[in-house]
Parts: sequence; structure tokens; C-alpha cells
Amino acid sequence: MSAVLQVNGLSKEFGAIQAVDNVSFELQKGELLALIGPNGAGKSTCFNMLMGQLKSSGGTVRLNGKDLKGLKPRQIWRLGVGRTFQITGTYASMTVIENVQMALISHHRKIYTLLPRAHLMYRDEALALLDLVGMADQSERHCAVLAYGDLKRLELAIALAHEPTLLLMDEPTAGMAPAERIALMQLTADIVESRGVSVLFTEHDMDVVFAHAHRVMVLNRGQLIANGSVDEIRNDERVREVYLGGGTLFKHDGESANA
Ligand code: ADP
Ligand code: MG
Repeated sequence: MSAVLQVNGLSKEFGAIQAVDNVSFELQKGELLALIGPNGAGKSTCFNMLMGQLKSSGGTVRLNGKDLKGLKPRQIWRLGVGRTFQITGTYASMTVIENVQMALISHHRKIYTLLPRAHLMYRDEALALLDLVGMADQSERHCAVLAYGDLKRLELAIALAHEPTLLLMDEPTAGMAPAERIALMQLTADIVESRGVSVLFTEHDMDVVFAHAHRVMVLNRGQLIANGSVDEIRNDERVREVYLGGGTLFKHDGESANA
């Protein structure tokens, strides 16, 4: 089986700081892969290199076998790497459905402002995407009035408008209440399943990670110290050391005294 994403020896220095240190991993089609690690571990730096926002100091990134070296963020996006939850992801003055239509128009390489009948284009497709994320009933509302969790779901629909093969989600649930976090990741897991999209995500809440990820990688001081199933990561000595004192990773440890 060939991997959607192949990362080999990826590295990045900021002056004396080795933010990402020789990281290698693969991501398969339809896989929901979590990248976890303490603050400053290098997660965002990894994401920024994968989407071309940051130039790596070394290593290679291949998408469906194609080397992404030297490509600009927009070119990488065109190749099917989507991202969610950018701050500027939606336009507040537009309605929910208009935001998705605009994404669809852009995906089909048309220019929104030059289209007199833009508001009629891709309406059905936009509604289908909103339905997928549970936002169809809010399609005519303005984004400015949306609740935070709804905005996040809309941003997911917008990302999907570009039919990505790989979705990068850096802390998608930041700022959300626990129940909303679970719901958003459940939705993401459903979409991974139904569309065969591959997702790489970071997340602080270990309950969310362990409930939804197919596989978990742990980054510490730029180095990948573990890569395995949820159970393997839970029981990994080095991972436990890294999180010692954090108290969030193994919330339910006490439940099985013999484990
Ligand atoms: P994480 O997302 O895991 O919290 P980051 O990738 O944001 O970690 O940061 C990794 C390390 O790189 C940290 O020590 C951080 O201070 C440093 N760093 C990140 N971005 C920059 C930058 N643009 N310039 C200098 N140092 C940076
Ligand atoms: Mg980060």
C-alpha cells in the first residue's frame, strides 16, 4: 500500500533551537493520525512545513509520491492538502452557504467577484457539504452571529469543498467546550470514514485523542519519541515520562489498578 504522506528526516532549526529534529512518519489513506506532545514540542512547526508555510532545514515530504520541496502553500493546497481552522477561514459579512459556495467556486478555479450570478453557483453542492457537517439548517445565517462550535464546523465544510486527500488540523478544537470537542472530532472521524480522507491533527485533550485517533505520534523537543496505537501510546514508558506531572494524558489510569 502506498502512503498518502511520507515524511522523511524532516527538520527545522530556529537559531540554536532544534524545533523539529529528524522526524519521519507515514500517513495512509483514510487514517486519522494524532500528533501530540507538550507545548513547544514542534507540532505547529511540523504542520507549517507540511503546508509549505515554513521552509524545512532538511528532510523530504512526499504527497502521493510527489516531492513537495520548494512548492508554495497554494501549490500544495492545489495538490489536495487542506487545512482547517485558520483565523481568516470565513467571511463574517457573508452567509454560511455563501462561504461554502465561494470555496467551491475557488476550487473550480473561478473568481467569485467576477461572477454576476455567483450566489446561484454550487448551491446544491454547498448545501450537501453543510448537511455533512450538520449546518444545513443554518445556511442563510451570517457568519458573524455563529456560535464558536458552529463556525468550526463551517470551516470544516469549507476545507472539504476543496476535496482534499489530506487534511491538516492544528488544534482544531482549541477554545471549545469538552462536549463540542468530542462532537467535532467524531464528525471528523465520520468524514474520514465516509470520504477516505486522511487527517493529521493535534489536540491537547487526551480523551479526544484516545477516543478518535487511529494512531498516535508523540513529539518531544522536536523528536518523535513514539508512534503507535492508542494502547501502545498509553503504555509507553517514554511517553509517560514526558507527560509526568502534566496529569492529563492518563486520566483514567486509576480505573484499572492491575494495569
Ligand atoms: P508546539 O506547536 O508543539 O507547541 P511549536 O512548533 O510552536 O511547538 O514550537 C517549537 C519550538 O520552536 C519552540 O521552542 C518555539 O519557541 C520555537 N519556534 C516556533 N516558531 C518559531 C519561530 N518562528 N521563530 C523562533 N522560534 C520558533
Ligand atoms: Mg502549536
